[in-house]
Amino acid sequence: MADVIVIGGGPAGLTCSTHLARAGAEVVLLDRDVAPGGVPRYTDHLGYGIRDLRLQSGPRYAHRLSEAALAAGVQIRTSTTATGLTQRTADGTRGVEVTAPSGREVLQGRAIVLATGCRERPRSARLIPGSRPSGIYSTAWLQRATLAGSFTGRRAVIVGAEHVSYSAVMTLHHAGCRTVAMVTDLGRHQTYAPVDLAARLRYRFPVLNDTRIRAVEGSPTLESVVVDGPGGEQRLACDTLIVSGDWVAENELARRIGLAVSTPRGAVPVNSFQTAEPGIFAAGNILHPAKTADACARDGEQAARVIGPWLAAQRT
Ligand SMILES: Cc1cc2nc3c(=O)[nH]c(=O)nc-3n(C[C@H](O)[C@H](O)[C@H](O)COP(=O)(O)OP(=O)(O)OC[C@H]3O[C@@H](n4cnc5c(N)ncnc54)[C@H](O)[C@@H]3O)c2cc1C
Repeated sequence: MADVIVIGGGPAGLTCSTHLARAGAEVVLLDRDVAPGGVPRYTDHLGYGIRDLRLQSGPRYAHRLSEAALAAGVQIRTSTTATGLTQRTADGTRGVEVTAPSGREVLQGRAIVLATGCRERPRSARLIPGSRPSGIYSTAWLQRATLAGSFTGRRAVIVGAEHVSYSAVMTLHHAGCRTVAMVTDLGRHQTYAPVDLAARLRYRFPVLNDTRIRAVEGSPTLESVVVDGPGGEQRLACDTLIVSGDWVAENELARRIGLAVSTPRGAVPVNSFQTAEPGIFAAGNILHPAKTADACARDGEQAARVIGPWLAAQRT
């Protein structure tokens, strides 16, 4: 039996695990991916660690957090998906149902930490009409496909104008794909003005404000999108559509045990990282889709400071 089972090995879960283990807790960390690190594993650009480690790339940041957790004695189980939580028993423990290559099992822990992050809302949730061809990705999947060398797009339209949308522009450029336009239904971009200016000067693409996608065209592969904005309708030839940002919390486990989540982003409400269910805590972007990695890592550290005394109180 573990003192703490942490679900999700991104910056929040890793940092929480490290601090708990350093304080003497027996910690098991689960991640469905083949290695710990969360989103930064796939975002191979500078911009990580500004407030906790120091400026570095996503993969390097993920590696350093993972190494710290291992050095602290955290038991990391990868390729292991948490699929459910059982009710708390009279002796104060709770089960985490997991599926791993070795099969299905239920792990017992005194405290559970939900650190499952958030995800970009997919095309269907944004009600983008038209055909359903291949070539439509979230930014996170674009990053994965690029790192795996399987991305072959050459002309991209990006839906959204958030920080992550500009990250997509850089990734596309590195992959040899030109950004044709960035489209947002809001009145302006939502990144820092210097980032917007530098990106548009460097990569030479327009940001189409107050503009919506009216149709996706092409089958079986994407050929164009029709956009509708202040200048009227226009057709943009492209083979890639990146549906970026517009984050929602990865809250499925929380909802399965009946925890209420907030609208519209599905964040799990907490009081000092404690959810409404005794013994279930949460940290990282599941609480606030989406903040930067160092903010999530800080969450993890602060959650550990709450969970440590909670564990001690349970033992007395
Ligand atoms: C394209 C892109 C670029 C970014 N650039 C920057 C940047 O430059 N600087 C910066 O600071 N931040 C950046 N961010 C944001 C940063 O990556 C996130 O803030 C951070 O990763 C969130 O940490 P987290 O621990 O909350 O969640 P995540 O990193 O999302 O980790 C969650 C983990 O939980 C696991 N998981 C989920 N559900 C389950 C389950 N049921 N069972 C087991 N495991 C599960 C996932 O596999 C994942 O590893 C970027 C994000 C993206 C998408």
